[in-house]
Amino acid sequence: MTLSGRHFVAGRAEPGEGEVFTGVDPIGGGALAPDYREAGAGQIDRACAQAGAAAPAYAAATPAVRATLLRGIADGLEALGDELLQRITAETALPAERVLAERGRTRQQLQQVADLLAEGSWVDARIDHGDPARRPQPKPDLRRMLVPLGPVAVFGASNFPLAYSVVGGDTASALAAGCPVVVKGHPAHPGTSELVGAMVTEVVRAQRLPAGTFSLLHGRTPATGGALVRHPAITAVGFTGSEGGGRALFDLAAARPQPIPVFAEMGSMNPVFVLPRAMALRGSRIAEQLAASATLASGQFCTSPGMVLWLPGPGAGTFAAALRTQLGASRPGPTVHATIRSGYERVLAEVRALPVAVHAVATGGDAAATKVCPTLLAATPDAVLAHPRLRSEIFGPALLAVPTHEPADLLAIARSLPGYLTATVHGDGDDFEQHAELIAVLRRKVGRLIANGVPTGVEVCASMVHGGPYPASTDARFSAVGTSSITRWVRPVCWQDWPHALLPEELRDDNPRRIRRMVDGVEQ
Ligand code: NAP
Repeated sequence: MTLSGRHFVAGRAEPGEGEVFTGVDPIGGGALAPDYREAGAGQIDRACAQAGAAAPAYAAATPAVRATLLRGIADGLEALGDELLQRITAETALPAERVLAERGRTRQQLQQVADLLAEGSWVDARIDHGDPARRPQPKPDLRRMLVPLGPVAVFGASNFPLAYSVVGGDTASALAAGCPVVVKGHPAHPGTSELVGAMVTEVVRAQRLPAGTFSLLHGRTPATGGALVRHPAITAVGFTGSEGGGRALFDLAAARPQPIPVFAEMGSMNPVFVLPRAMALRGSRIAEQLAASATLASGQFCTSPGMVLWLPGPGAGTFAAALRTQLGASRPGPTVHATIRSGYERVLAEVRALPVAVHAVATGGDAAATKVCPTLLAATPDAVLAHPRLRSEIFGPALLAVPTHEPADLLAIARSLPGYLTATVHGDGDDFEQHAELIAVLRRKVGRLIANGVPTGVEVCASMVHGGPYPASTDARFSAVGTSSITRWVRPVCWQDWPHALLPEELRDDNPRRIRRMVDGVEQ
């Protein structure tokens, strides 16, 4: 497929209208053809208006029709073949095996929500039959289920050019829910976005769905994203990216005449606590795993571990030494775009101006100007408690070591933490019982608690929670990953005393879809 800088506005391929930008080779720094132009105001308006126009028909499409669309997109991703894989590598410098794995994960996300639709019970149907004979008031017949919100604006992150991008988890779950999608492509991988956008547009057309079901707009200024969020036809926003970006869009959405929900998944420091028995038994092994997790893909994961805390005792010295060795021996690596590298260096400089020691900087291999160096920092518990900056994400391969003096330090720091995506606890024997209060505090702070593992590697399945209290996300009640992510794009509607023949199939007495339901308080 020839890339030509196309936007896809409700089925129409067209060039943009604003400033020109290109993808950039993150290693060589050169521009990657073709030119892309920022979306024009008229294009944004048409994409959103057409999504609004498509919404009733797309919401009425049967689950089977929507599942076919999702499976068609999953197959289309595969069919884009090497051309897609090579463009991703060119635009992001992500290694080929990672790109392949991410394509597999993205297809899996699409297929899982298609399976969810086929099974059907996710609509949470509840039926309470009426009782006209009830006294003193007759009881009405009440039936409720989840229905789609309407058009969703999706903003992907740069570090996952497929899994959190044009057909990533937000798009897959919104389309599954019955919501048209308008994607704002990430300007760090416009060619990848164009390839995927062209494929989705074709699948939508081939399946004769309303053209406004899907649009892709390119842009690299806040104006484009802002216009999308302010558009009256947009009913919800899915965002993955920085805290600054997510918060800006959340505030814009709240300031609309008709506010809409923003489900923003943002940064996280993912602290790791190593408890005494685990430290004594396998401190060196934990240090090895932790260093590998912190430096994986140059630390460009929202689940990258950014802080490790431990108590004095047997194994602690060996653990600290192993961390230094491992981080120091790791290699500088490229970032998906230059702004991530400059952001990493700026934040490291800010942090180093605080009472923080630098324990190791990886300089092995090629420490080119386009790469980031894994860095091990260290701070005292008092410093961490005094400086909130030490408790917030450093996006990149940095790890802050915090050797503490006593359990009260662990507890005080845990209480001071903001919301994160994950917390990891290494424990053995009675470690978990001895530190039950710490674990209770951590449970209040995160969306996922991990025992004896690493936070990187987010399984895509029904029970995954990828989210957490602010600022990990703007709504801790939902997950951005796994089939439960569909519930972000729906709302409950109750039909009272409605003519039975006019009810949705999911709420009819004969249950033609054979879904699980709550009927008169009993699950059936
Ligand atoms: P980013 O710079 O926030 O960009 C994400 C998207 O939002 C882009 O399309 C960007 O477009 C748009 N955007 C950002 N600020 C905006 C604003 N003020 N107004 C309108 N649009 C705006 O994020 P990134 O650099 O791709 O990703 C790095 C960050 O993402 C890290 O902090 C990482 O932790 C986080 N992340 C989180 C998760 C998660 O699931 N929680 C997953 C991956 C990454 P423009 O560039 O055109 O403004």
